[in-house]
Amino acid sequence: MSDTTGMNPGPHDLDALMKDLEGADDGPGDPFAESEVAPPAVRVATEIVRNAIDENAEEIHLEPGEHDVRVRYRTGGVLRTVRSLPKSMRASLTARLKIIANLDIAERRRPQNGRVTVLHKNAQASFVLETLPTPLGEKLFFRRIEDPWTIPALGEVDFSAEMLARYRTLLEAPNGLILHAGPSQGGRDRILRAAMRDLPAQDRNLITVEEPVLGQLPGVTRTEVCTAGGFGLSAAIHAAIRQRPEALMIGEIRDREKAEQALDAALGGTLVLAGLNVPTAAAAVQRLRDMGLDSYLVADALRGVCAHHALRRTCRACEARGCAKCHGTGGRGTLYVHELLTVDRAVAERIRAEANESALLATAREAGFVSLHEDAAAKVQAGETSEREVRRVLGPRETP
Ligand SMILES: [Zn+2]
Repeated sequence: MSDTTGMNPGPHDLDALMKDLEGADDGPGDPFAESEVAPPAVRVATEIVRNAIDENAEEIHLEPGEHDVRVRYRTGGVLRTVRSLPKSMRASLTARLKIIANLDIAERRRPQNGRVTVLHKNAQASFVLETLPTPLGEKLFFRRIEDPWTIPALGEVDFSAEMLARYRTLLEAPNGLILHAGPSQGGRDRILRAAMRDLPAQDRNLITVEEPVLGQLPGVTRTEVCTAGGFGLSAAIHAAIRQRPEALMIGEIRDREKAEQALDAALGGTLVLAGLNVPTAAAAVQRLRDMGLDSYLVADALRGVCAHHALRRTCRACEARGCAKCHGTGGRGTLYVHELLTVDRAVAERIRAEANESALLATAREAGFVSLHEDAAAKVQAGETSEREVRRVLGPRETP
């Protein structure tokens, strides 16, 4: 990891930046007109980033090939080629994009990463840029991260009314551990923050430990882990707990040490919300056991486990047939699917007994557990996504 991560430069105005690079005049006027006269690489770099924002792409890939540079966007989970550029443009284009992300343009043999926030059409958009050296030149990968104002409300992340009510009940607990499973990009990061946004901040000490801090959460103290700077995740959790928060969010628990810290705080007076990189709720319980945590303590502390995955939402304009609005992909925007394992007395008993996943779920079903596949099936029924999309993200449905 390069030491540019962690750093959080202010937003760049893409136009101003491109002008700066060219030493162009600062005259008023249409910014696009301004870039028409810029050298091709500068103009193309600007277009690539702008179009990605306009098309709501979550990733941009620039891939050097034998004869060209392929530009691809991932929109709604699907990667597609948007243009092919002459090989001769590769070096200058790569340099422009690396400058925007504050990377060292002279370093081409080692991977680098940086963060870039741009202003486009009066809105702010942020990306993480990762470079990867290849024999044909560096591959550039931009991953869109949340905009400051896009931390959604809990009511906006596709929970069924029933699941939302059950989840909110968990948030009312004075202490305990609530785990959020699923891939980091599959909604987990956003939903963890949405949950923090849902908590009353006025009369509570709310703290997050994140790497990196994403979006805006008024009233919440946010700690940014900076491993390269010697402030690691464990130290951050420790420092946060010393401030006796009523609620603490930990972006991701990666090992036993952090899991134990979270568990200790949860058994004390803190409501701990934490991310875990496993696909399902039952797998999260299993992971805690695999980490070597005491099953009795886990059963005492754990209030519930959520799992989230992100699917493509079917384009309403064409009902998945493919149209101009969805760039022929049939999908537009993201749809989240969830499952919520509530740890009631019976489930806690199963956890203490170290029951396997299917035994755990069988018990949870008695209290109304709805699996990811079942939540997704209801959303397919409602026309919000397709069977195929569900299989792509969640895999085939297991027969019980
Ligand atoms: Zn469409």
